[in-house]
Amino acid sequence: MLEDVLRYLEEKRSCPHCGQTLSLCHAPSIHVGDGLGWGSEYLFICLNDECPMFAGGWDFIAQQYGHVGSYRYMELPGSRENHAMMVAGKDAFTGSIVDVDELRRQDQRYQKLQEALSQLDTCVAERNLVPVLTVLLDDAARLDERKRAASLLAELNDLDCVEPVRNHSFRDGSLQLQVNMALKAVLEHHYLKECPYCAELIKARARVCKHCKHELAA
Ligand SMILES: [Zn+2]
Ligand SMILES: [Zn+2]
Repeated sequence: MLEDVLRYLEEKRSCPHCGQTLSLCHAPSIHVGDGLGWGSEYLFICLNDECPMFAGGWDFIAQQYGHVGSYRYMELPGSRENHAMMVAGKDAFTGSIVDVDELRRQDQRYQKLQEALSQLDTCVAERNLVPVLTVLLDDAARLDERKRAASLLAELNDLDCVEPVRNHSFRDGSLQLQVNMALKAVLEHHYLKECPYCAELIKARARVCKHCKHELAA
């Protein structure tokens, strides 16, 4: 997907009506069933408000259809196919210009996640907490994958998981519950508990927290 975009951006297309470089935009997400999809995730669009096609389109649409709108010149990437695309206003596509840096970030996140997923099978044998945290703390990963990572926390039994996991807020209640249980198991394995007042790790037997000096219920 990233490769497609980078290849498209090399094409440097210009509008035959005004000469301005066309902007690569995300195609509007239209339900496939209504037959209006362009068959491409991306579209090259002339976003020049002075473009004759766009500037002259308002009167034409008002006269022909009696509503407010105009046309933007559009070409499909990977072909010379072009269309006059009806738009309801000036801003119709300005919010959907492809942000290459953002796509690169998404791509890096995705590659990192794939690598971590492939390491989940062997991470317990290798005592490697990193892929488990990568999958578990990635809010864009699938819930079943994150639950699988959570189930490995107790097996790995590595205290280094406590801080990063505690510092993450899980939006899914069932995942949060599973994580809480796993942390509890890891702490119990190490004869530790979290102080309910200052959150520092202390001995399970402690009656007074050595960090904040609070008395703890038995
Ligand atoms: Zn133009
Ligand atoms: Zn404390």
